[in-house]
Amino acid sequence: MSKIIYDVLIIGGGPSGLAAAYLCHKHNLTYLVLESGKAIFQGIANTYPEGKLVYASRPKDAPEPFMVDELRPPDKPVSVENYLQYVQHFVQHENLHVETEVEFQDLKDTRDGLQIVTSKGDYRAKKVILSFGSNIPRELSVYGDAKMVAKNLEDPGKYIGLKTLVIGGGNTAADVIINILKTKREARDATPVYWAHKAEIFDVNKETAQRLGEEILLGGNIRLLPGAMPRIGEVDDAGVDRLVIRVNEFKQADGVDTYNGMSFPMKNVIACIGSQGPVPIFEKLNIQMIACSAGVCKIAHEGERLVLLTSEFESTRKGVYIIGGAISPSYMKISAGSIAEERHPNLIYTAINDAYNVIEAIRAKLIV
Ligand SMILES: Cc1cc2nc3c(=O)[nH]c(=O)nc-3n(C[C@H](O)[C@H](O)[C@H](O)COP(=O)(O)OP(=O)(O)OC[C@H]3O[C@@H](n4cnc5c(N)ncnc54)[C@H](O)[C@@H]3O)c2cc1C
Repeated sequence: MSKIIYDVLIIGGGPSGLAAAYLCHKHNLTYLVLESGKAIFQGIANTYPEGKLVYASRPKDAPEPFMVDELRPPDKPVSVENYLQYVQHFVQHENLHVETEVEFQDLKDTRDGLQIVTSKGDYRAKKVILSFGSNIPRELSVYGDAKMVAKNLEDPGKYIGLKTLVIGGGNTAADVIINILKTKREARDATPVYWAHKAEIFDVNKETAQRLGEEILLGGNIRLLPGAMPRIGEVDDAGVDRLVIRVNEFKQADGVDTYNGMSFPMKNVIACIGSQGPVPIFEKLNIQMIACSAGVCKIAHEGERLVLLTSEFESTRKGVYIIGGAISPSYMKISAGSIAEERHPNLIYTAINDAYNVIEAIRAKLIV
């Protein structure tokens, strides 16, 4: 574990996380951004369609300007690629401290603050800002640990020479497979890509199916595993993390079932099983949420659980703040002794201005 105790540890390098980082930098607070993706703004890079224009939208009733003007998208909309390029330059120019490919996993309270558990070891900080957005990849629910499994395709070249397993039945999984097949074909690599889905039928749109068909006709080596279920994450005798997947199952009258399974090194596996909101993470972190009962919430539906925050965005875990897309489209705000649902549009503007408000609050607390 690192000996440094940062003033602020920021989880997620999107607009909210980077705005927070820039403000820490400006006000001489020690800080570090941990981003699970390969680069900053990975959330935007993964979710915006190619060429999408980025708008500097502001909610109609918003009184303030963009409080970190340096990250504001231009008034005349530019493509997402241009905006990403601009932000990369800005981060390099300001020399903001970001570590990429580090996945936040857990938080522990310690005597001097908070211990942040990640895929690359532990960090320590006085305050933590959770700015990981709303688009959290689903975890494989298997017995044991499956944390080594990739959730998106960052470098298809990594799979050359490896029998690869892609899990998921939709367009994202199909796109990943098309990319790997193409890369393997260009490298004259004949190792197969296995495509596993828990249902019997794969569900892709016509355009994706056509591109996949083309790759197969060009020699792509794909093996379909419909009805296959990931079951166990384990470490084998050689110390290799493996994922065991059940590919078929035979029920026997005597109650002793038989099945066939396959076991892949986890580094060969990519799970494209969709994304979810951050509620399961808040649950794991013991951050209090409140369920909307009939007539209480205008934005969230009845039964939906909303995270409980102070007007400074501090959660019920002391020193842990939550901002940006992670609390959109609404959260429960504690103010003047009462609790009410607060609208929180999922916009770059909101993400940046949340960061401004939180850093102001943290500065006031750390300076005392
Ligand atoms: C298709 C689309 C178009 C949009 N267009 C616009 C627009 O034109 N204008 C506008 O204002 N808004 C737009 N939005 C909304 C805007 O993108 C979001 O409001 C904004 O990105 C939220 O910023 P954020 O920093 O809170 O979250 P994100 O941008 O989602 O950033 C979160 C970051 O955290 C990282 N992360 C996630 N989990 C972990 C973890 N466990 N450990 C470490 N890092 C993690 C992610 O990789 C990501 O980089 C659009 C959204 C979508 C989906």
